[in-house]
Order: sequence, then structure tokens, then C-alpha cells
Amino acid sequence: MSGKRKLGKAERELIDAAKAAIKSRYRDEWQEVGAALRTRSGKIFTGVNLDAYLGRMAVCAEAVALGRAVVEAGDAGIDMIVAVRHPPPGDKNRTIRVVSPCGACRELIFDYDPKARVIVPNGKLPAVAPIGELLPNKYSRGAEG
Ligand SMILES: [Zn+2]
Repeated sequence: MSGKRKLGKAERELIDAAKAAIKSRYRDEWQEVGAALRTRSGKIFTGVNLDAYLGRMAVCAEAVALGRAVVEAGDAGIDMIVAVRHPPPGDKNRTIRVVSPCGACRELIFDYDPKARVIVPNGKLPAVAPIGELLPNKYSRGAEG
């Protein structure tokens, strides 16, 4: 992926915020993913996924973080975003790791900021990729480009 860069302080800070969110709100099979985004104005918002008995009602952590940014700051521009997955209980050797956004979240991130950067897994260390690279041939209704 050509747009990938190594992680700096800003990226590590965002990963740590996502980890802290899921560490404090982890609930087996209900909240397992944390997310953090930095708005264009530099504010950080976190979220955790909301699983649901009725599966299609489940909401991703990235969407919860974006919702908080919109409601609390009225600030929907996304400079950077990351999601992390908490391991299941009893899995002591595993750590909280960066995960890729699902396809629906890629659409959502692109809709709110086509220039957003996403921290994604990349072997041993995560890397940063522009959302456009993670979403080739983005969905469109046909009328627009
Ligand atoms: Zn998602």
C-alpha cells in the first residue's frame, strides 16, 4: 500500500485512546472493539462497538466515535481513525490489537472525510493508509462521479 507510513506520536496517542476505551468498557461478546478518531480540529473521540441480540442492530465502534464527535463537537471531519480488538477472556497471551475497519465503516469514514487516514494492521507494527486506498471503487448511486 503506497500511502502507508510508520507510526508517530499522534498515531500512538490515538491507538492508546482506543485501547483505553475498550479496556474500560469491555464486555464479553457485547463490547469487544474500541475506536478513536481525531477530528480536523484536533479533538479525540472514542467509541466501543454495540453488539445486539438482533445482529443487524449492532453498531461498530468507529460509528459510535463518529457519532460522539458530531454530537459533542459538531465536528465531523476525520483526520485519523483507528479501531482495536480486545481479546476474549482467558486469552492471556494476546494483547489488544489494531484491526482494519469493516467495509461499511470504510464507506462511513470516506463519506465524512474522503481525506481521512486510517491506522491499519501491517505485520508487526500498524501503519497509516489513506481511506481512499482502503476503498477502491467506492459505492455511488450512479448520478455522481
Ligand atoms: Zn465497521
